[in-house]
Amino acid sequence: MVNRAQVRRAKPKKVDTCKQATTLILTYLMGELDSKTTRSFEEHLMICPDCVAFLNTYKKTIQFTKSLQYDEIPNEMKKRVKEFLRNKIKLDPDNR
Ligand SMILES: [Zn+2]
Repeated sequence: MVNRAQVRRAKPKKVDTCKQATTLILTYLMGELDSKTTRSFEEHLMICPDCVAFLNTYKKTIQFTKSLQYDEIPNEMKKRVKEFLRNKIKLDPDNR
């Protein structure tokens, strides 16, 4: 019998693109990011003011709605993430 549901260990991700960073912001703020990924994420923040700005926007939103849950993210915020990614990918050929 083939075990399709192999338990895969969540490997730490190396955060080297804004796209990755952006997808991790929420997990990071929820404190659910593993330590290695957190470090990698924070390293990206050090070199990327765009993601820092985005992170701050997120933080403010979360402070504002303190009981924010994953599935309670306002549509406005989802829209912003998408727009952020779209612009970022468009502007930065390295992230393709
Ligand atoms: Zn970035």
